[in-house]
Amino acid sequence: MITPDYYYVIVGGGLAGLQLALRIQSDIFFKGKKIAIIEPSKKTNNDRTWCFWEEGVGQWDHLIATQWNKTKFITSELDQELDLAPYSYKMLKSLDFYQYAKDMLDNSGDFFFIKDKVSKIDQVTRTAIGEKANYTATHFFDSRPPADFEKIGNSSMIYQHFKGLYIQTENEHFDPESFTMMDYRVKYNKSTCFTYVLPVSSKEALVEFTFFTPFLADKSVYDEKIREYITSVLKIEKYKITESETGIIPMTDYPFHKANTPYLTKIGTAGGWVKASSGYSFKNTEKKIDQLIENIKCGLRPSKNLFSTKFQRYDAIFLDVLEKRNDLGESLFTKLYTKNKIQDIFKFLDEETNLSEELKIMLSLYHPQFLKSFFKKI
Ligand SMILES: Cc1cc2nc3c(=O)[nH]c(=O)nc-3n(C[C@H](O)[C@H](O)[C@H](O)COP(=O)(O)OP(=O)(O)OC[C@H]3O[C@@H](n4cnc5c(N)ncnc54)[C@H](O)[C@@H]3O)c2cc1C
Repeated sequence: MITPDYYYVIVGGGLAGLQLALRIQSDIFFKGKKIAIIEPSKKTNNDRTWCFWEEGVGQWDHLIATQWNKTKFITSELDQELDLAPYSYKMLKSLDFYQYAKDMLDNSGDFFFIKDKVSKIDQVTRTAIGEKANYTATHFFDSRPPADFEKIGNSSMIYQHFKGLYIQTENEHFDPESFTMMDYRVKYNKSTCFTYVLPVSSKEALVEFTFFTPFLADKSVYDEKIREYITSVLKIEKYKITESETGIIPMTDYPFHKANTPYLTKIGTAGGWVKASSGYSFKNTEKKIDQLIENIKCGLRPSKNLFSTKFQRYDAIFLDVLEKRNDLGESLFTKLYTKNKIQDIFKFLDEETNLSEELKIMLSLYHPQFLKSFFKKI
């Protein structure tokens, strides 16, 4: 075979592509291997805010915009504040991450940023077909979601879709020590939706109206609901919008991993690295990359053992319940947050619990729909 242009080609310089590149760059095992990152956009905007929980010191702490040790869970009947220790909930602005990654990788000499869009990866010739050129490599890491994944066959699918506004107020309205994980006081029909509030100071917060639904909403709905929350719940009359973000995150048990081969590994959302039942992927990406790097160094297929079948089933059952009975969201999350310690919930979502801990959480959520979904997904 002709010597390929690159050892690895990473398609997509977003969260997964850049985390992977940084991890490779930090490991002497890969020193001297030429790696291309093919990305069509410049990544010069703060296009998203990533939040995640972790215990103690983490590898992204130098990029963290802010963090909290307490959270609130609120409904019309309940207002509870939860202490997160030993966890903290950390916020990172994507632009800080993109710039940091670019600086680190540009300085290493092994990484090549290419502005192009890949339409196809031919695994026989091991070539990524771009609009400007073609790129050969020994292995491809690909963040493009499969074209057909929303036509889902047996998979369940809901969307986590939202709009968030960074607002600044004249007076002090927010408690910067505590963020609101879910506030169910503003409703949209009988769907699962809530407001998420991330205060960065006493006068500034990201206020996000979020749905977990099988349908998408009209753009005007998010604006209307955020306004309703700010004026009737927070009772803020005067505020300035400084930034906004929108997102549609697929929450699905679609078998993304089936596209992995000895020459190609799907990464990020395209690889099924978004936790299907929560929509979080920042920390998941870190963990999957650790496993993937270990596999490569052991001479195994990069995608080996990236998923736990047991947790995939739990996620699939929960998704099916929310897809079939979207009206249950508020009551299910209320049970989750009132009958379990937040630390146990984080541990469960991190897939670090044992069977008895998992049973306790699942029993706390019980509704007959779970039985129907269980027999469908098992
Ligand atoms: C607004 C928003 C907020 C979010 N907040 C959180 C959060 O708080 N916590 C959390 O854990 N998760 C969050 N997520 C979910 C998830 O972490 C992000 O979507 C994350 O960016 C997914 O990483 P990724 O690498 O798969 O996708 P991306 O970061 O989107 O990267 C994919 C890259 O591939 C590039 N690309 C696409 N097509 C091609 C092509 N044909 N050729 C070459 N390149 C291509 C894109 O331009 C993009 O840069 C959020 C998502 C959004 C949208």
